Amino acid sequence: MQFIDLKSQYAALKDKIDKNIHNVLDHGQYVMGPEVYELEQKLAEYTNAKHCISCSSGSDALIMALMAHGIGEGDVVVTTPFTFIATAEAIKLVGAKPLFVDIDIDTFNLSPRLLEETLEAIASNQVTIHSNICNDIKDIKAIMTVDLFGLPADAAAINKIANKYGLIVIEDAAQAFGGSVDGAMASNLADIGCTSFFPAKPLGCYGDGGAIFTNSDEIAAILTSIRVHGQGLHKYENIRIGLTGRLDTIQAAVLLPKLEVLDTEIKLRQKVAELYTSKLSKIAGITTPSTPNGYTSAWAQYTLMAKDDEHRTQIMEHLKNNDVPTAIYYPIPLHEQKVFSSLEYAPYAFEVTSNVAKRVFSLPMHPYLQAEDIDKICKLIETM
Ligand SMILES: *Cc1c(COP(=O)(O)O)cnc(C)c1O
Repeated sequence: MQFIDLKSQYAALKDKIDKNIHNVLDHGQYVMGPEVYELEQKLAEYTNAKHCISCSSGSDALIMALMAHGIGEGDVVVTTPFTFIATAEAIKLVGAKPLFVDIDIDTFNLSPRLLEETLEAIASNQVTIHSNICNDIKDIKAIMTVDLFGLPADAAAINKIANKYGLIVIEDAAQAFGGSVDGAMASNLADIGCTSFFPAKPLGCYGDGGAIFTNSDEIAAILTSIRVHGQGLHKYENIRIGLTGRLDTIQAAVLLPKLEVLDTEIKLRQKVAELYTSKLSKIAGITTPSTPNGYTSAWAQYTLMAKDDEHRTQIMEHLKNNDVPTAIYYPIPLHEQKVFSSLEYAPYAFEVTSNVAKRVFSLPMHPYLQAEDIDKICKLIETM
């Protein structure tokens, strides 16, 4: 059994994908070819965002979003410690500091309540666990939310708090493209949204790729310039520092037919998740993922919780011995990572994150997972 099955999707879309790739080989516009612009237009339509700027990866999308808002040296960006390293790495790469706020145990996403408490404490000059990083509320410039495992963060609540403090909200929707909240699409839930087309993401290409979404004409123009070394009116006029941030034409050509089936695939993932949850939620010691009312997850991962560390190891071993792959996203919270030791957070500074990092594990999840396989996995866990 496979954890993620990319071959079934390729088999289903082979004719269109092969034809599109060969078109690129024939027309020869490997960089910023017509497929790139066609894809950007379709992605903007899909998310209802005014602008889509495709780019080289989800990580670069985050870096470019920070750069476009002028965030860098001396600035602080609030984010979650329970995410993939790229989220906080981007903050550090532009010279800013990440300030971590704990998550909600039901959604694994940044807690709006704890976010508000933290900002209030810093604004009123209280001594906090963040004092090493930030004592002055004016240093905080942005909040980077993460739609973890495909479930959008509570953007409505977070945007409201951000407004109160004049902060930009950057949505890391790398895992959530195709997810939504009350019909509003992930990647377009905040001031700026970033997604990834890494092959294993809900909408994946055959290499690296990403996209940025904004409703601001000004930010869109800056992003377009950053994407090509900060270019000005023409290629060899440079007005800011940028990067080589383009999406390859071939990757755009691969993504076009995949975008057409994304909604169908999200529905199939939804069915897989429902089947898992119906069978697993009754088992003692297992906590299945919850989706708040009005939210649609893109189900990048189906992540559940065991009782504790030991219980998790037992289940994962048992599944492995029966040819069922599993994974832990993420075993080490970011504040406990060596690379962020200079932030000087205590190991258990974030209670919920440290708790779930010991208990979470993810089961095989993709649109083409068969009911028999789901049945087998659930029976293995049930009969332990
Ligand atoms: C995958 C991922 C990224 C980075 O995307 P890449 O395209 O691999 O650079 C960023 N944030 C999160 C939450 C991710 O899961």
